[in-house]
Amino acid sequence: MLRLYNTLTKQKEEFKPINPPYVHFYMCGPTVYDYFHIGNARSFLMADVIRKYLIYKGYKVKYVMNLTDVDDKIIKKSNEEKISSNEVAEKYIDSFMEDVRKLGMKKADVYPKATEHINEIISLIKKLEEKGIAYNVNGNVFYDVSKFKDYGKLSGKKIDELESGARIEINEEKKNPLDFSLWKKAKEGEPFWESPWGKGRPGWHIECSAMSSKHLGETFDIHAGGNDLIFPHHENEIAQSEGATGKPFVKYWLHFGFLNINDEKMSKSLGNFFTARDILKKYSPYAIRMFFAQAHYGGPLNFSEELLTSAEKGLEKINNLRDKINEELKTQNKDGVNPDFDFQKFEDRFVEVMDDDFNTPQGIAVLFDFVRDVNKVIAENQSLSSEFYKNVKDFLTRTAVEVFGILSFEEKKSAGDDKLEKELIELLIQLRSDAKKEKNYALSDRIRDELNKLGVVLQDSKEKTTYKISHR
Ligand code: AMP
Ligand code: ZN
Repeated sequence: MLRLYNTLTKQKEEFKPINPPYVHFYMCGPTVYDYFHIGNARSFLMADVIRKYLIYKGYKVKYVMNLTDVDDKIIKKSNEEKISSNEVAEKYIDSFMEDVRKLGMKKADVYPKATEHINEIISLIKKLEEKGIAYNVNGNVFYDVSKFKDYGKLSGKKIDELESGARIEINEEKKNPLDFSLWKKAKEGEPFWESPWGKGRPGWHIECSAMSSKHLGETFDIHAGGNDLIFPHHENEIAQSEGATGKPFVKYWLHFGFLNINDEKMSKSLGNFFTARDILKKYSPYAIRMFFAQAHYGGPLNFSEELLTSAEKGLEKINNLRDKINEELKTQNKDGVNPDFDFQKFEDRFVEVMDDDFNTPQGIAVLFDFVRDVNKVIAENQSLSSEFYKNVKDFLTRTAVEVFGILSFEEKKSAGDDKLEKELIELLIQLRSDAKKEKNYALSDRIRDELNKLGVVLQDSKEKTTYKISHR
């Protein structure tokens, strides 16, 4: 029985999805104005592991992660870089997707963009306005917090405490300091959309209310994000969605602890961060995932290169076993011993600890106990059957590969594969050159850009086009 800590009720609860086996899961995604840092990566990766464990348990998970592609920070960057905010967003969405892939995260089922849900956002604000919960002052629309009696139920704070303590935006147009923007009137040079309140753009919180209900329904199972989002972001999402529908918004709220540096939150604004892509240059994605899985998702974790290095070292044990399995399974061994090995015991222990609010440090410990015991059996026997190795591989695949993502059974590429890769790239270069001859520059540029994203950089000279592999 899976139990998880629900920020809303402040206790561990049995997980009972609304419509099993389906689980509707929303994770607050990035604001796409820069590369994400390894602190953001902690939240994204722990959400990835939780999603994968739910799949392991047999649930059919629909996982939605929004992309905030209109925001003050994006506008600021677009002014600095003298490109449109759309171009800023596209650039960092591409880099986000690349990092997601390199970190071994499963792609979301939907990545809704705020700018593609303006109609849904406007209708939601209209609904709140009709209900008298939102008010318009000169084209700025605010949420009237005093109209939602449960305000503060997620963060566990009373309205008067929130008013005095929180860093909330000061704005003379607001009736109450806790009221927040639903629709922001366009300022000179900012991107805008037409709306019943004039030209403007949505506030951040309303995006998540509108996009989650569009893709997951008005009431859904899990909503997750970093601890910093509990207040005001998630508190406001609840106020907006429940204010509009009168129904419960989310059943289980999950929050991820911060990745700290010297006990201080890693963040863009403090400047104490490393981008995920920089860390990926020094450490394998498997070590990064192992480092995070070795701490419980809910607590704080200090960033440490020593721990990343020791995660990398720790993985050698499991990688050595993987190599042995791959080697043994190249040929069928029917004559070897099929030892009496209790796979079920490990599977049960794995489930037991992971069912306890996704206790990944214990889950990793179970894996290493398993590796140790398997190695013992290997040392004690001259020859073991293929069936035994297959069972070992299956267990590691279900857990280390498919839940934690700290291992891969894929063999390093053989010479034959490299040859195929080379031929495919040459073929694309040929097609690009044909497209150019036909003056189909849209296609030729696209081939170049898409190859670039895969790390294949084309270099044109007069005679021919060559290529370089930039990263792997
Ligand atoms: P942002 O792009 O700032 O909205 O952040 C994207 C996600 O990363 C959110 O879920 C944040 O809560 C989370 N996050 C930001 N900083 C950290 C940190 N230092 N440790 C863990 N998660 C973080
Ligand atoms: Zn959100």
